[in-house]
Amino acid sequence: MRKKIVAGNWKMNLDLNEGAELVNEIFKGLPELSESRMVLIAPPYLHLTQTAAQLTAMDNVYLGAQNCHHEASGAYTGEVAASMLKSAEVAYVIIGHSERREYFKEDNAMLAKKVNQALSNDMQVIFCCGEPLEIRDAGTQNSYVEKQIKEGIFHLGESQLKNVVIAYEPIWAIGTGRTATSAQAQDMHAHIRSVIAAKYEQDAANKMSILYGGSCKPSNAAELFECADVDGGLIGGAALKAADFLGIIEAMVNA
Ligand code: PEP
Repeated sequence: MRKKIVAGNWKMNLDLNEGAELVNEIFKGLPELSESRMVLIAPPYLHLTQTAAQLTAMDNVYLGAQNCHHEASGAYTGEVAASMLKSAEVAYVIIGHSERREYFKEDNAMLAKKVNQALSNDMQVIFCCGEPLEIRDAGTQNSYVEKQIKEGIFHLGESQLKNVVIAYEPIWAIGTGRTATSAQAQDMHAHIRSVIAAKYEQDAANKMSILYGGSCKPSNAAELFECADVDGGLIGGAALKAADFLGIIEAMVNA
């Protein structure tokens, strides 16, 4: 059975004190997570060692990073290598977030290298994909997302694919308050699973967790997570408030 996951991406928010406080609040309200459920917290790099220490008290709650560099090491001022993340007890790396693609010009070829860096350092990948509004309006979102997936992860063998989670995040829904309907999310998730099944075995597709991201909140999480192919969410804004994040976790636990 594939895992249901709620992953919180803090982006460039919260100082160290605020981050510690938020994790404390989450800890206080965290429901019991069975082996088929997991929570991920992806704070800014600077928080990682602090958050790692806090997470040792929590079962099935993992540490994530929001990015890694595409080379192993070297003269890349200001960057962070996957091996450094591993040494900070990071378990998952978010790769290909639309903000990285848009503001930092990360293309699929670079993202494929980042995927390799994370996997070769024994971390798991949350690979993000999703279309802008004009693509959705043109009705070509399926082929757009398919291309991102093919170019980002199809170089992997099936044994490596086991360490990849996909997050579908329509750009028009990120931070806009405009959520995809559960039917739109389900359609795309089913499409992504069929794309994986066509390249790998059906079994590999069935086992892959596919998360939805885009203005997910406690009031819409249950409906989204009930969809057959939606295995949880990648959460931005609502991950910054303990009550909201816990509400979304509750929906995932009950899905
Ligand atoms: C995100 O940026 O991954 C995201 C889903 O943000 P939000 O939940 O704020 O829309």
